[in-house]
Amino acid sequence: MRETKCNTCGNTEYKERRITYLYSHQGQYLIAPNTPVEICSNCGTVYYSAEVLKAIERQFFAIHNNMASPDQFLQVPVKSM
Ligand SMILES: [Zn+2]
Repeated sequence: MRETKCNTCGNTEYKERRITYLYSHQGQYLIAPNTPVEICSNCGTVYYSAEVLKAIERQFFAIHNNMASPDQFLQVPVKSM
């Protein structure tokens, strides 16, 4: 658990959650379901751990260099606001 104060509100309590993270790099994407994060229990700011982000980045480059296979492919509709 984080022991530092929330950057937004100064609170020191966090909840652990799993979210779907969208990694993007130069117009290519990797969706990472089940990514562990910590969320400030006061204001809801989401905090990612450096190790988790590094792991997602490694998976992204492995998949896009054909060194690893994704669990599945999705077709994702896009619509600008
Ligand atoms: Zn906060």
